[in-house]
Amino acid sequence: MFDVVIIGSGPAGYVAAIRAAQLGLNTACIEKSFDSEGKSQLGGTCLNVGCIPSKALLDSSHRYSDALNHFSDHGIEVSKPKLDIPKMMERKNKVVAQLTAGVGGLFKANKVTAIFGEAKVLNSNQVEVLIDNKSEIIETKNIVIASGSLPINIPVAPIDQKNIVDSTGALEFLSVPKKLGIIGAGVIGLELGSVWARLGSEVTILEAMDDFLPMADHKISKDVLKEFNKQGLNINLGCKVTSAKATAKNVKVGFKKKDGDEELIVDKLIVAVGRKPNTANLFDENSGLALDEKGFIPVNDFCETEVKNIWAVGDVVRGPMLAHKASEEGIMVVERIAGKHAEMHYDLVPSVIYTHPEVAWVGKNEAELSESGIEFKSGSFPFAASGRALATGESTGFVKVIADKKTDTILGVHAFGPSAADIVQQGVVAMEFGASAEDLGLTIFSHPTVSEALHEAAMAVNGNAIHIGNRKK
Ligand code: FAD
Ligand code: AMP
Repeated sequence: MFDVVIIGSGPAGYVAAIRAAQLGLNTACIEKSFDSEGKSQLGGTCLNVGCIPSKALLDSSHRYSDALNHFSDHGIEVSKPKLDIPKMMERKNKVVAQLTAGVGGLFKANKVTAIFGEAKVLNSNQVEVLIDNKSEIIETKNIVIASGSLPINIPVAPIDQKNIVDSTGALEFLSVPKKLGIIGAGVIGLELGSVWARLGSEVTILEAMDDFLPMADHKISKDVLKEFNKQGLNINLGCKVTSAKATAKNVKVGFKKKDGDEELIVDKLIVAVGRKPNTANLFDENSGLALDEKGFIPVNDFCETEVKNIWAVGDVVRGPMLAHKASEEGIMVVERIAGKHAEMHYDLVPSVIYTHPEVAWVGKNEAELSESGIEFKSGSFPFAASGRALATGESTGFVKVIADKKTDTILGVHAFGPSAADIVQQGVVAMEFGASAEDLGLTIFSHPTVSEALHEAAMAVNGNAIHIGNRKK
């Protein structure tokens, strides 16, 4: 009998499994996915077809675009760089292989039992696993469901993983499509669009909504839209895709705009319209578990389901579909199983878009605060006034700090620019400790760093920034 059986080895499941074993719980982690060679595959979406391979390609493509467009700004003349896409893909695959093998190594080191097969929850103490078409029943005191998510398919654009692909197919192109269409201007569409635009594709993004990045700070959304269009992403808002047909030569994409129907012809089309919880065939009908109307497993703030001793974490439950949120939920749950006090601070989950420049934020933005009637003050600092940003030639964007009008407690940090993710992460730490804008302003930041923009933005909240004219009268 296991103390805990975890279903899924993505960042929610594998992190939960390691922490559970560290806490002395007899732990098993079940994973159903196998690679093209039939080898079991730990690490979930994030390591295999998500965060890691996309970041590997974002980094490679950024280096190419730098060599092509920006080396000469620094007085470095190179002959036109040549692309070797198969080699770029091989490097990406190596990074993935190293990290997924690392998860296997960590399981061994921590004595987590890895079971490879498809799991089904029978009841709160039994999981059925299908291994090579043979069924095995595993007994356990607790079950943690971490089965993750899958790309949403829309019937108007059927995926063939050749010409019409989802995010997984878009990480596998072996040549640069001349014309690339993308449905959806969300995080995944923007990141994958950036990769292929930098490598030379003529990218067109079709987004159904009229608003661009509505979840971000409004000034950031506006500036980002301008910058990405400048980078050649060609983002078209208010364009709902109604059909996509692949022929031997190209893909014809039909879409609806306010003023009528239009057609776009591309070589490849990426469908990036969001992700859905992965819950098909996961429960026996007598398990007592039911899904909500969108297919998520309903849980409370501690990730407890309606059935005692069954927990669910990560993309399969409400909240942002992000790896770090998934992992922290996994840790919280197994700590609670081990009898410890643990909780999640959901309002402090940071969001990042790993474009160049990066976009990142944590906490509330001004529109959300106004809507909730919370009085606030804010301070911004442009990277154009940052010595380090100018020295590196990356002075687009700004940092904004928002604080409570009366208490000065930081309520949100928003950034668009160089190392925005790392800058916002410093805001997360400050907010976790309940810092005020003044506290952050009194903190010493190394010079010259791009992080100084956060320091100055925090000082600007109370009119005290040094390198901009913001003194309050
Ligand atoms: P998953 O990673 O989806 O893992 C679930 C695992 O469960 C899978 O391995 C699956 O095979 C297994 N499983 C499912 N059902 C069963 C079953 N019945 N039996 C056994 N095993 C089962 N997030 C970030 O935070 N940062 C990023 O930069 C980022 N980039 C992304 C880029 C792309 C292209 C994509 C697609 C996603 C990205 N994400 C990113 C999102 C991130 O990948 C997910 O939020 C994260 O993987 C969720 O973790 P999880 O453990 O809940 O689920
Ligand atoms: P995200 O959920 O952040 O990955 O974003 C997916 C985006 O795809 C959303 O902004 C949706 O509005 C957009 N979207 C969904 N369906 C369509 C469609 N048929 N045509 C264009 N955009 C779409």
